[in-house]
Amino acid sequence: MITVLIAVPNVVCLCFSRWRSLLLVSSMILSISTSVLGQTSTVSNFVTEVQIQEGGTSLKVQGLVRAEASDGTVLLEDTQGKYHLLAPSAIQQRQQTSAEFQRMSDEELMASLLKEVGDGFEVSETEHFLICTNSGAAYAEFCGKLLEKVYTEFFAWSENLKLSLTPPTQRLPILIFAAESEFQAHATKIHPETPFENTPGFYTVRDNQVLLWDLTRDRSLRFSAVRKKLSESPLQLATIVHEAVHQLAFNSGLQNRFADNPLWFSEGLALYFEQVSLRSPLLWSKPGLINSRHHSEFLRRSADERLPIPLPELLTSDRTFQTAESAPAAYAQSWAMMAWLVRQHPEQLAQYIQKLQALQPLQTVSADQRTQMFQESLGSPLEELPGDLITWARRQRSAR
Ligand SMILES: [Zn+2]
Repeated sequence: MITVLIAVPNVVCLCFSRWRSLLLVSSMILSISTSVLGQTSTVSNFVTEVQIQEGGTSLKVQGLVRAEASDGTVLLEDTQGKYHLLAPSAIQQRQQTSAEFQRMSDEELMASLLKEVGDGFEVSETEHFLICTNSGAAYAEFCGKLLEKVYTEFFAWSENLKLSLTPPTQRLPILIFAAESEFQAHATKIHPETPFENTPGFYTVRDNQVLLWDLTRDRSLRFSAVRKKLSESPLQLATIVHEAVHQLAFNSGLQNRFADNPLWFSEGLALYFEQVSLRSPLLWSKPGLINSRHHSEFLRRSADERLPIPLPELLTSDRTFQTAESAPAAYAQSWAMMAWLVRQHPEQLAQYIQKLQALQPLQTVSADQRTQMFQESLGSPLEELPGDLITWARRQRSAR
């Protein structure tokens, strides 16, 4: 038994205060005493009941054990799809029942979302999403159509790469608050460890929800007026796409929640999709448009023929995303690497994704393992990557 720090990045993906160019990333660092191989994944499909001590009160949590560390830390999924990380010191009693675990139905999830947010909210459903909102109907309709477009393009993209994904069997929850202040109050309530200033939205890996606020700030707008208003805030609009891609990646088996996913990959993927297209009916058309903001940032920071962040560092550590000084470079390079891999080396990228898909919740991955996974997939010497990537990026033209 050794003690390690398990970093569970993206517990909240809080990528940006986009219009202030100060980038914030929250990553919850969990100190867990465990052995490197001390994690087990789901072994049964039966509900486990756990009695826990929280803030002086005793609570019962029920769900499916998704993973367990050798020190007794338990990762439990409840019927809403939320994850609960239960420290061994908080667990008083635990027993497996004979009831089979089943996620809530869409109707039950709707009721549960409404209970969570309080009065004044309604839930509308699209083919693949439940949108719980107190903003205007036209805003919910616009977001619903945009989310469905992202859904279609996400799975089309994965088919092109011949990835083996499983579409979610239930609709995915999206919360949209009419006012930024309401959004912030709710976000702070569920994730008190994270600052939410100047944040248009985020995906919480723990609760599996995307939280947004109405960027138009006007509940009375009709659909065309919503579109016009959103076209004036392309960076914030891109957030809706970005966070939806995180949610889809974690609900399709492309990535596993609470696995040690490299942040450059998680963010690079969402950035690869997010570029808006202001001439399109929904202001977004498809993944892979050159990301104007991160492309120019990457070119500027690699003008001296060197990568902004040394490759070994970006591959093995998520540290550069966590300070305002280095985060712009980390995001720009993550976008560039993902776009370059998709376009120039799709088969190698698919191989790398297969290795990431196999990572289990709470499983630690060493720096060497991270490098090895990437290097084995790429197949060519890592020393060649910086020159190839910079040359490729200089040939690209930003989308308008
Ligand atoms: Zn993100």
